[in-house]
Amino acid sequence: MCVTTFSQTMITLSRFTYEISPVFIIMEEIVLKKMFEIVGWKENEGDGIFSPGGTISNLYSILVARYKYFPIVKTKGMAALPPIVLFTSEHSHYSFEKASAALGIGTENVIAVKGDERGKMIPSDLEAKILKAKAEGFVPFYVSATAGTTVYGAFDPIEDIADICEKHNLWMHVDAAWGGGLLLSKKHCFKLNGIKRANSVTWNPHKMMGVPLQCSAVLTREKGLLQACNQMQATYLFQRDKHYNTAYDTGDKTIQCGRHVDIFKLWLMWKAKGTSGFEHQINGCLELALYIYKTLKTKENFQLVFPEEPEHTNVCFWYIPPSLRGILKDYEWKAKLHKVAPMIKAHMMEEGAVMVGYQPLGDKPNFFRMVFSNPATTKSDADFLLEEIEKLGENIQFM
Ligand SMILES: *Cc1c(COP(=O)(O)O)cnc(C)c1O
Repeated sequence: MCVTTFSQTMITLSRFTYEISPVFIIMEEIVLKKMFEIVGWKENEGDGIFSPGGTISNLYSILVARYKYFPIVKTKGMAALPPIVLFTSEHSHYSFEKASAALGIGTENVIAVKGDERGKMIPSDLEAKILKAKAEGFVPFYVSATAGTTVYGAFDPIEDIADICEKHNLWMHVDAAWGGGLLLSKKHCFKLNGIKRANSVTWNPHKMMGVPLQCSAVLTREKGLLQACNQMQATYLFQRDKHYNTAYDTGDKTIQCGRHVDIFKLWLMWKAKGTSGFEHQINGCLELALYIYKTLKTKENFQLVFPEEPEHTNVCFWYIPPSLRGILKDYEWKAKLHKVAPMIKAHMMEEGAVMVGYQPLGDKPNFFRMVFSNPATTKSDADFLLEEIEKLGENIQFM
């Protein structure tokens, strides 16, 4: 009984102000500080808030960046601004468009930068698109680099993107919703080199770190911006004449009023596992990705979407059923291959033994996308997945 009451309190408490949940406010402060340190920010840098997911964290980054360059937007709205545009790669998460629609910027003002074969943003295309937008009378203000793209698991070249942002005086965000966990791994953190130059970072502990939903942080290098951008100073909550330091009333940094307690589970897991515990489980997931990649390379009935080793735990591949092997790979072949993954997925759902996502991308027909983030997954689970695909796909026929 007591435990139930306790945990209910934990998950239902609102955190607008320090007086309501002092412990969680302090936990949030401590964990955020740790995250700033890991990102590589200096002692006097770093601010942030836990938000309801990476989509909202990305929205915050645009909101704060826009406020930094155009503070007038808070009171006068978009009509007071020049036509602003932002940039992110064609492989970035759809949340940038969603946020731009919500913030009144408009989805057409999110400019897609080309990625290479492997899904990494091409810096020269970024710069070309910035110059083109300027020439057409638009005002660039924000670039998002992705550290761990959702589909390919690619890491954009952050240092090169940071150079371009500095040159053109643009805000650099790093969407590390998926890849942020790799910062905890000495072996893999180099993939995010340059992240300390970011003006803001999205990091979802509910992804690679295995924290139960929801747990996402948006971090900004400059202190005070979240507060200045979002505060409304409602006098029934955020009184200035309280007897404690009202800087701890962090609720006004958010676009919410009441807020879910997302920090407790992360704080507790970090205490229990330590950074090295997270490192171990994250390295394990990356090893599994490498394992399935190597296995796929040896199998004739599978084909990788791109030949390089995975940088993250995403492994994208096609299953080629016997009826599609050894024939000309023309348009018709591709159209048939496009049907294979959905057919196998349908069988999987009927069988109920295993499931894996699939999707098309650009001109590529539907492929499977395996991602590892559950530390309990083993090599035999990975083998089982491939065996199931082979079993369910073996007899696929086309009319
Ligand atoms: C998952 C993901 C998001 C969105 O995070 P949610 O917590 O699901 O809203 C944003 N960016 C990237 C790169 C992601 O992989």
